[in-house]
Amino acid sequence: MTEPLVRLADGTVKQVSPLTGTTVWTVPGRGARPLTVPDRERRPVVGGGADRLCVFCWDRMAETTPEKSRLVVDAGGAVRTVHDVPASRLGAEVPELRSFGNLFEIVSQRYWRTNHGTVTPARVHQRARDYVSEPAGRAQVEALLAARAGAAGGEPASPGSPRWWQDVEDLFDGSHDVVVARRHLVDGARFTDELAGPGTLDVTEHRRFIAFTVAGLRRVYRDQPAARYVAVFQNWLRAAGASQDHLHKQLVAIDEDGPQLARELVLARSDPALYQHAVLDLAVRHHLVVARNEHAVVVAGIGHRYPSLEVYSTAPAQLPWEHTPAQVDAFADLLHAVHAATGPQVPSNEEWHHRPPGADQPMPWRAVIKWRVSTLAGFEGGTRINVNTIDPWQVADRVVQRLVELRAAGLVAPMAIGDQCEDLVLRYGQEAAR
Ligand SMILES: [Zn+2]
Repeated sequence: MTEPLVRLADGTVKQVSPLTGTTVWTVPGRGARPLTVPDRERRPVVGGGADRLCVFCWDRMAETTPEKSRLVVDAGGAVRTVHDVPASRLGAEVPELRSFGNLFEIVSQRYWRTNHGTVTPARVHQRARDYVSEPAGRAQVEALLAARAGAAGGEPASPGSPRWWQDVEDLFDGSHDVVVARRHLVDGARFTDELAGPGTLDVTEHRRFIAFTVAGLRRVYRDQPAARYVAVFQNWLRAAGASQDHLHKQLVAIDEDGPQLARELVLARSDPALYQHAVLDLAVRHHLVVARNEHAVVVAGIGHRYPSLEVYSTAPAQLPWEHTPAQVDAFADLLHAVHAATGPQVPSNEEWHHRPPGADQPMPWRAVIKWRVSTLAGFEGGTRINVNTIDPWQVADRVVQRLVELRAAGLVAPMAIGDQCEDLVLRYGQEAAR
């Protein structure tokens, strides 16, 4: 195998991803540019309008599909998850997080029903009937069905018909969920471009965001037995594919591994310590370790189309929900630190990876954060060589420098940064392989 990361004599950096085989070149002289800031419309926030800016905002809860769960933090700091809130109670308290089905699913409930024989559970059947028995719930559901049918150029089924009831139940039962955080803008924002991003949450809020998402991930698997895998991702800003500027994650069940995961499963079959050898040891060798804490590590990624950072759980557990709360918090803290160092003006994707529960090759829980600061062009399309403006060392340097400042200011959780990181071992069910 050729070295995945080399710097040529003229300064050009050539990378090949050890996991995907993606080829990336970074040409010298472009990396010091500031990360692209998207052009945003800057409008003043008018009184009370900060929670009405988009359909995910808290003053517009009836514009999402019916809520599946919410996280409520009581005045004393106690945290509880509330499921299946009726329409009449949506505004009864101010949740910190909400989850609900995506109105425009990537993989629809009809797909699962038709191709896998998925049946609506009795619990969902009853939940749908209870919900529409309230006038507010009925109005919400009818508006959603009209919006969805309209977007497809059709008409909703006639209310009360068997097809209508099926459509209604699907609003409560999908396998493509959205998890939304409370704020659209940071507290005290005066302009609509002062967005609340993943890194502007405080450490505790961000831990709850990740733990709530992990619980949602487990629920999607539970509710969709035909799911082979559930993809979890966060698109931040429109340049990264987000439909709303409001912080949210998505969880999408799929019925196959997809080519990337399939490739990794083959690699992991022949090397149970694949991620240690191909990723972490490589990062250590090239001084690309950015930070670590007790249960996680973050490195600058090699061979990504976009400048990327990779957060790995170092815990013995593999599936996200098998991690202890302290291990989930540690993972969350490094994700948060990366986002805080990146800043809310930079479009990004956060993509989670975990072992498909039905696979027996060991895989660690990890997340990749990609800075969407460049656009693929004809050169890439014609050559399959991606030109990336910032090489992994520059990514690591930028984030390390910023993290030192953020840590000193108490804006990220305690962690070792850069050269302080030692003893880097991924423990995911593969002790025997080392
Ligand atoms: Zn919003």
